[in-house]
Amino acid sequence: MSHPPRSFSTELAVIGSGIAGLAATIFAVNRHLATALVGHSGALAYTTGYLDLLGRLEGSSEAVADPWQALEQLRQTQPGHPLSRIAPADIRLAFDEFTGFLGASGFAYSRAAAHNVSALTPAGTLKPTLCLPATMAAGPRAYVEKAPCVIVGFEGLKGFSAAEVVANLGARWPDLSARRIAFPDMARGEVYAEVMARSLEVPATREKLAVALKGVAGQAQVIGLPAILGMHRPDRVHADLEQRTGLTLFEIPTMPPSVPGVRLREWLEQTLPGKGVTLIPQHKVTALNLAPDGATLDLRDGFGPIRIQAQAVILATGRFLSGGLQAHPDAIREPLLDLPVTQPAGRADWYRERYTDLRGHPIHRAGIETDAASRPLGRDGRPCSHRLFAAGALLAHQDWIRSRSGAGIAIATAYQAVLAAESALRGASARSRGFA
Ligand SMILES: Cc1cc2nc3c(=O)[nH]c(=O)nc-3n(C[C@H](O)[C@H](O)[C@H](O)COP(=O)(O)OP(=O)(O)OC[C@H]3O[C@@H](n4cnc5c(N)ncnc54)[C@H](O)[C@@H]3O)c2cc1C
Repeated sequence: MSHPPRSFSTELAVIGSGIAGLAATIFAVNRHLATALVGHSGALAYTTGYLDLLGRLEGSSEAVADPWQALEQLRQTQPGHPLSRIAPADIRLAFDEFTGFLGASGFAYSRAAAHNVSALTPAGTLKPTLCLPATMAAGPRAYVEKAPCVIVGFEGLKGFSAAEVVANLGARWPDLSARRIAFPDMARGEVYAEVMARSLEVPATREKLAVALKGVAGQAQVIGLPAILGMHRPDRVHADLEQRTGLTLFEIPTMPPSVPGVRLREWLEQTLPGKGVTLIPQHKVTALNLAPDGATLDLRDGFGPIRIQAQAVILATGRFLSGGLQAHPDAIREPLLDLPVTQPAGRADWYRERYTDLRGHPIHRAGIETDAASRPLGRDGRPCSHRLFAAGALLAHQDWIRSRSGAGIAIATAYQAVLAAESALRGASARSRGFA
């Protein structure tokens, strides 16, 4: 027997639970918009936890030190880039609001500063980023000061090698050394970062790890270790371990899927419903129908169909990895609304001859077009709807991987889209009313 869809109404529906969808939901909550978030699992669990704004300019192999100045250059060379279409002051506000919200719920991040920091990758190389979790902040500081430091790896943990970190960084950080220890109470064999993180929520495990860390610190006052310091309250686990050891500790992201990404996903699932968000995780919107006063979203869970009537929608469905774009033999398509996708003329033009070409590959700039109010454009070049907005990696004219600007594009364009949605829902004066 088929059941009629369970249905509900909301002011705003956000489709996609990557950083763009997550940020859009936070900005909407802060503006008291009744919000539903529907997102299938995607790239979020893979992210390092670093929030990059702009780390590379096109054609350059140099890391960007001052992303705010680099934004000016970007504006001149790539006016169609999503970050060129947002005032830097708004980008800063967006970062501050996003990290402020996470921090207030026990997941502290450094604030957007004037310069990028050199953050450690799982392999011990450095990458420029703007904001990083508080649990990682001491790493770049210790690197700048060249403080004596021990990188600790764990027996049986794949995706993180202290020896590799030291091999790659040792020439620039002479007082860096590697040690390998056993994780408390874990039988010999393979151990997993996620399991280690959850077990460090238990004080007794922290005490045993603290003893082991003190045992390998030697003269060093600083210890780097893979990102395993708790799943739900990393700040508390980090502070407690620092107190037990008397040492400064910092996390380094592991290979994906990594604990910082899983933390963000679980944070989203546990915190947002308490803020009034209707959350439908791990499900895909199968149909989106636009109407003059909003849109209807259709999806299905284990109990049957669900229908959401929304007065406005933000599309934050990402690119190929998350299913926001699909690559077909003849063309790249946007599957939900069949929005026109800006893309290379033909398949032969998707990639350049050399894989390592500094200009990147044209396919990585494919995406949908939006107007100044974040509204996706249809085939006639006009907004498809005055109630549909878009944000994140789905947008055209940017190659976030190459420019090291994944979270920056996601957060800044989500901010722009929510302000536009708020104006559409509540009138043009909405922006001047501020938020809680
Ligand atoms: C390995 C890896 C490492 C990264 N490291 C960094 C880093 O160090 N710093 C940084 O700034 N960024 C990093 N990123 C980038 C970052 O995680 C995001 O991918 C990027 O910011 C784009 O975010 P997004 O929300 O636009 O898209 P995505 O993260 O791709 O999210 C799109 C979401 O939409 C959902 N979706 C798609 N279609 C539907 C549908 N029909 N119904 C419901 N949901 C749907 C997907 O399931 C997914 O949840 C990394 C990404 C990866 C993959």
